[in-house]
Amino acid sequence: MQLVDPRSKHERIVERISIQVKAAYDQKKPVKIFHGGTHSTRPQHFTRDNTVDISDLNQVINIDVAGQFAIVEPNVPMDALVSATLPYGLVPAVIMEFPGITVGGGVQGGAGESSSFRWGLFHEICHEYELVLGDGTVTKASEEENHDLFHANVGSYGSMDIITSVKISLIPAKKYVRLKYIPTGNVAEAVKAIQENVKENVGFVDAIQFSKEKGVVMSGDFSDEADLPKSRFRMAWNAWFYQHAKKVVKKGQPYEELIPIQDYLFRYDRGAFWVGDYGFGILHLPNIWLFRFLLHSLFTTRTLYRFLHATNASGQYIVQDLCLPEDSIVPFAAMNDDLAKVYPLWLCPIRPDDENKLSPSYIKTKLVINVGVWGKYVVDSEKFIETNRKIEQQIKDLGGRKVLYAHAYYTEDEFWSIYDKEWYDKTRRIIHASSTFYNIYNTVVVKEKIQSSRLTGLMGLIKSPFKIQ
Ligand SMILES: Cc1cc2nc3c(=O)[nH]c(=O)nc-3n(C[C@H](O)[C@H](O)[C@H](O)COP(=O)(O)OP(=O)(O)OC[C@H]3O[C@@H](n4cnc5c(N)ncnc54)[C@H](O)[C@@H]3O)c2cc1C
Repeated sequence: MQLVDPRSKHERIVERISIQVKAAYDQKKPVKIFHGGTHSTRPQHFTRDNTVDISDLNQVINIDVAGQFAIVEPNVPMDALVSATLPYGLVPAVIMEFPGITVGGGVQGGAGESSSFRWGLFHEICHEYELVLGDGTVTKASEEENHDLFHANVGSYGSMDIITSVKISLIPAKKYVRLKYIPTGNVAEAVKAIQENVKENVGFVDAIQFSKEKGVVMSGDFSDEADLPKSRFRMAWNAWFYQHAKKVVKKGQPYEELIPIQDYLFRYDRGAFWVGDYGFGILHLPNIWLFRFLLHSLFTTRTLYRFLHATNASGQYIVQDLCLPEDSIVPFAAMNDDLAKVYPLWLCPIRPDDENKLSPSYIKTKLVINVGVWGKYVVDSEKFIETNRKIEQQIKDLGGRKVLYAHAYYTEDEFWSIYDKEWYDKTRRIIHASSTFYNIYNTVVVKEKIQSSRLTGLMGLIKSPFKIQ
């Protein structure tokens, strides 16, 4: 189904990007990729002479209903992607939980969600990329064509190339997700319940560990039935999803319900999982229904990210996603109890990846579990860095990998003891990326001291903090 005729516009934009990249290549001046926003928590610095602006690559170019795939530009966010495919009864098999995460950011940033135990991370449902290489060449990469480039691109944080379109496979959707909430005790019990549920014939599994002793595992599938209670999570008057999940398992019994598909896919948007609780703390307001209702638009992820960047608040929070082999979750939780005591934790099972060397799920195990550790941690900056570095060391010792969207504090030697430097440098040389795009280590490691300020945060809500200076 041809939506509009966006191809000529697409070609014009790609040509402009290619010319700009070629100029950077000729001058040996590396460039960053700007797309109008980010879900990375690192401070962002874009200047006119170091930035390629790809924010207008934001169209769904084509949806092939019979072939069950879509061709989309990289700056299409998840909610727009679902809105474009759902009228044809189709959705991408992996849709990240935050509606503003983009297709390009998802591929290059190693993103995934509760269907990833079955399908892998988002890049594993992407079958072809159009790319601008470091010398300005426009090319395609897939399993069959430019195989090495196809795999090198994943999880590279803009250090290999610029993605200008993506072919994404789609699957049939239904009206609801039928979701079962299973109360669990400590983390060991949650891991066991996750391991059992991923073996069932279901489409979605994730878990919240509310405290050391209490959690919930949620397991679901698409459904057109109408025989169960229904809940929604996107309206101002709805509960935030994690609050609802906590409430329905309070009596220690399993609970089942139907959730309209978009409410399920973006269930963690309001309140950004539970990170929004801290926003109420900053405003000195209780997190009660009336204030959630009145301040609804301030507490969606898109606004919370603007606030986070404008205030530099990431220096007072541990915000990390850590991919670990299934057997390492219990020792990791013990370390969290000793070191940072962050709760709730998010547990999301992921199919391991054995082809994409920079993917966070490139781990030798039967099942990867991503732990989302997002919590307040107000200490001086030395202690903050020390704790983050202890977490990094522990993740490495436990055979895991960090998702690199967040702060990283590795030394260069530590970083390259996890990733394959010889392969990385050689690949960058072959595809002319070395002098055009910033190296991944320099992109993801935080070297500056982060000073947070509420005043700049309020200004940032008025003026976007995501801009080219
Ligand atoms: C609290 C919290 C919870 C999170 N929860 C989840 C979750 O549940 N599920 C999940 O999947 N992720 C989650 N994330 C992480 C998020 O998915 C990643 O940060 C993702 O990469 C964000 O995509 P983005 O569109 O914001 O891209 P960005 O963060 O802006 O980009 C990521 C990288 O990709 C590069 N890039 C972007 N577009 C292109 C392109 N077209 N070509 C080349 N390079 C490009 C950028 O330069 C950057 O280096 C969470 C993050 C936080 C802070």
